[in-house]
Amino acid sequence: MDYEAVIGLETHVQLKTKSKMWCGCANEFGAPPNTNVCPVCLGLPGVLPVANEEALRLTVLAGYLLNCTVAPYAKFDRKNYFYPDMPKNYQITQYDRPSTLDGLVEFETNGSIARVRITRAHLEEDVGKNFHFEHNSGIDFNRAGVPLMEIVSEPDLTSPQMAYDYLNALKDILIHGAVSDCDMEKGMVRCDVNVSVRPVGQKELGAKIEIKNMNSFSGVRHALEYEIQRQIDVLKSGGGLTQETRRWDDAAGITESMRTKEYAHDYRYFTEPDLMPFSPSEAWLAEVRSRIVELPLARKRRFINQYQLPASDADTFVNDVPLGDYFESIAASAKSPKAVANWLINNLRAQLAEMHSTLAGLKFPPHFILDLIDLVDSGKISSKIAQDVFAEMFATGAAPSQIVERKGLGQVSDTGTIEKYCEDIIAAHPKTVADYQAGKAAALNFLKGQVLKLSKGKANPNLVGDILQRKLKGE
Ligand code: ADP
Ligand code: ZN
Ligand code: MG
Repeated sequence: MDYEAVIGLETHVQLKTKSKMWCGCANEFGAPPNTNVCPVCLGLPGVLPVANEEALRLTVLAGYLLNCTVAPYAKFDRKNYFYPDMPKNYQITQYDRPSTLDGLVEFETNGSIARVRITRAHLEEDVGKNFHFEHNSGIDFNRAGVPLMEIVSEPDLTSPQMAYDYLNALKDILIHGAVSDCDMEKGMVRCDVNVSVRPVGQKELGAKIEIKNMNSFSGVRHALEYEIQRQIDVLKSGGGLTQETRRWDDAAGITESMRTKEYAHDYRYFTEPDLMPFSPSEAWLAEVRSRIVELPLARKRRFINQYQLPASDADTFVNDVPLGDYFESIAASAKSPKAVANWLINNLRAQLAEMHSTLAGLKFPPHFILDLIDLVDSGKISSKIAQDVFAEMFATGAAPSQIVERKGLGQVSDTGTIEKYCEDIIAAHPKTVADYQAGKAAALNFLKGQVLKLSKGKANPNLVGDILQRKLKGE
């Protein structure tokens, strides 16, 4: 019998706010332990939370970007459990009335477009972080109360690779929308992985296994590969599976049981009495909608269609938004947007990286790129010389035509001069000439290269080829 996997992800993302969710402490990674704390986020008696409005906005914005419905009425609830990294002994979250629900994420996987439904995206708060040392343990509460959004997917994912691609797409969307920096190194994205298997063709879902608190996407893929096979093996050998929570041991490459799954009633949810329900006004929502950006996949498709770029170039301009915007500002009036893309991706980006500089610091105006391309297209300079002109333009901000003129870089198309170069090279390389005449076609390229070198790259390469061939045939 064949089995198939069913996967649903609960992804937690730290929101890009200046301050925490219920107090004014900084939402900042890397500060010395327990320096960004106050009575509110330490859960001291008598304090009251005040909701961070920017976090509410970012959650709704994320809802729009994930094609969710934004709830006209949302509220907060207490999820009660006892754990040292959570000083209040309850987490404030959204239980039955989340801010956004019923969404859809489209993304590329395995060469085509996949769609995963989003159950909900709701707002909650992060917890502190436990540290275990040799002789004692400590807790850093800097992270406690950081705004955290949870995005719950429907069980629409069918393979480890698809889950991996979904997570990356989700991350790209949230970075583009400035909802979160999604810095994995800083633990800004963590997810709980739910997975079951069932015989192919069966409608009912199998017992759900949840793998808690994964903090790398490749870890998720790896854990799923292991766990799916483990479940199939159990069923094939006649065993049964029950709902449980497991932990991924990255070093050993296995999952191991933590506990049988808790149920909602274990958390004794009730409405948070210290916070008002949230019914956004139309004006408030309109303000959030003004922050909606083009989604990465839509941008990619547009760059491919509008500018006839290959997918790899479009990907570059999706991942590097400022470079993509710069490209668009030039490409609109370019004869060949692809030529512009080549200069930006192969030259400009490399130079900027090398000089640790940004587009804002460029010394030349964008249209100089078009001027440079024109010089090549019209045969004034060779594409090799154009590289040098670009470097000079980048360094000084001078116009390409001026650089060419000042340095005498114009391409030599004067046949008399080129003939002389060819004769010199033919005379200097009798053996290569003999090779060519004996039928070794590649010898021509060598001679051509020598002529170009002799001309310091200025001879028109097409003319050089023609003239060489003519002379070698003794014409
Ligand atoms: P719980 O109430 O246990 O948290 P939910 O129904 O809220 O479970 O689902 C949590 C996550 O698990 C969602 O992402 C959902 O898509 C996924 N999920 C639910 N049932 C299954 C299943 N049988 N196999 C795989 N994933 C599942
Ligand atoms: Zn605080
Ligand atoms: Mg759940």
